Amino acid sequence: MSDKTGDYISGLFAPEDELLASLREEADRTGLPPIAVSADEGRLLQVLLTSIRARRVLEVGTLGGYSAIWMARALPEDGELLSLEIEPKHAEFARRYIDRAGLTERVEIRVGRALDVLPSLDGEKFDAVFIDADKEPMPTYFEWALRLLRPGGLLIADNTLWGGKVYDEAEHDEKTRAVREFNRRMATDPRILSILVPTHDGVAIGVVKNSP
Ligand code: SAH
Ligand code: MG
Repeated sequence: MSDKTGDYISGLFAPEDELLASLREEADRTGLPPIAVSADEGRLLQVLLTSIRARRVLEVGTLGGYSAIWMARALPEDGELLSLEIEPKHAEFARRYIDRAGLTERVEIRVGRALDVLPSLDGEKFDAVFIDADKEPMPTYFEWALRLLRPGGLLIADNTLWGGKVYDEAEHDEKTRAVREFNRRMATDPRILSILVPTHDGVAIGVVKNSP
C-alpha cells in the first residue's frame, strides 16, 4: 500500500489522539525500534475486536504498548489484554503509557520469552490472539493460538507480507521461511478461515471454525 493510501485511510478513519502521538514521539526519540503497527492497522484491530465482542485478548510482542492501547480501548470495561514481551525495557515503557491511558486495569504485560510463557496459558481461552513478535517461531505461535482461541475467535498476525519477501522466490532466510509457513497454515489449515489483508506490511486475519 502506498504511503498516500495509508495517510488517507489513517487521516480519515484512525486519527491518533495526543497520547498515541506522544507515545510514538517518545518511542522514536528514545530509540525504540519504529516497528509498531500503523494507525490504520490499530483501527483495523479495533474493528475486528469489536465485531466479535472480544473480552479477553492475547498479544505476543508489546514493544511500547502502541497496539496494546488501540486494542484495549476496544474492550469492555471488564475486558483483559495480556501482552507478552521479552525486553524489560519495552515492557516498562509500555506500562508507563498504559497507565497514562488509564488502562492498567485492563492490560497486563508479562515479561518473558513467548515460547516460555505460552505453555503457562494452556487451558485458558481467548477471544483473539494478535501475533507481532519475532518471526522464526511463527508456525509455533500459530499452533499455540489455535490451542488458546475459542471457536469463533480471531487469530491476527502482523507483518505477514514481510516487506514483500514472502513472494520473492529468491528469499530463503529463516524469518521469511517462517512467515511463509505461517501464511501457508493460515490459508490451508481446515480449522481456520483466513485472509491476508495488504495493509502497511500485511495483516493476516483468521476466524476459528466451530469444531464439527
Ligand atoms: N505490537 C507492537 C509492536 C511489537 S514489535 C505494536 O504494534 O505496538 C515486536 C516486539 O516483540 C518487540 O518489543 C520485541 O522485543 C518483542 N519480542 C521479540 N521476540 C520476542 C519473544 N520471543 N517473546 C516475546 N516478545 C518478543
Ligand atoms: Mg509488527
